[in-house]
Amino acid sequence: MAKLEIHQFEALNDNYGFLAHDPETGATAAIDTPEVAAIEKALAQKGWKLTHIFNTHHHADHAGGNLALKEKYGCTIVGPKGEEKLIPGLDRAVGQDDVVALGNIKARVIDVPGHTRGHIAYSFAEDHVAFVGDTLFALGCGRLFEGTPQQMWTSLGKLMALPDDTTVYCAHEYTQANARFALSVEPQNAALVARSKEIDEKRTRGEWTVPTTIGLEKATNPFLRAASPDLRATVGLVSAADVDVFAETRARKDNF
Ligand code: ZN
Ligand code: FE
Repeated sequence: MAKLEIHQFEALNDNYGFLAHDPETGATAAIDTPEVAAIEKALAQKGWKLTHIFNTHHHADHAGGNLALKEKYGCTIVGPKGEEKLIPGLDRAVGQDDVVALGNIKARVIDVPGHTRGHIAYSFAEDHVAFVGDTLFALGCGRLFEGTPQQMWTSLGKLMALPDDTTVYCAHEYTQANARFALSVEPQNAALVARSKEIDEKRTRGEWTVPTTIGLEKATNPFLRAASPDLRATVGLVSAADVDVFAETRARKDNF
């Protein structure tokens, strides 16, 4: 019974922008503001009027368009409590389990620090949709710019706890490069091998690999697979704690 309408579009080099729309009330949110022109074009295409901005974190390719859009549309800006001072034009700071309304549709905020210290995700549970910014990518996860491996592992665990059929909207098209790394640490994973092939074919045809789903990521994304014996063997941490396997995997990706 999906009520939420989502429009995805390309922005900047490899970002995705998203509009989330409540058809009953007309309320429309930009999930992050990577590029004003791309967002305005998307709004015009759909015939939607911007009422909200839901920011996931403070990086310029996520909040850089806030002020220009607010000036033009007078929209309400919602963003992470943990980065209150870094989000331009912020009206409402939110954190774990706060509820954000988009017209008649409600989203729950999940704190997912790691990439940045206050990063949040928006879960539209009724629609089985989550916007995760730069925390979880298709076959990847965000770099740890401001947080620790333990923080990121806890954050990813919260996303893993969402239902497997949750559609996950991540903010970048990094999947093909992520797949090459994933194959290097878990080449025995048949689901990963098959998915990598599919990704190559999609990219050859110029198609997007976002969104993904929680179930697909749990089966193939090395950053969610710290428990995998094959992955553990590759990184040489057969009996370590999951968080240490995650930390080692993340460190290897940084140098891949
Ligand atoms: Zn970022
Ligand atoms: Fe980003």
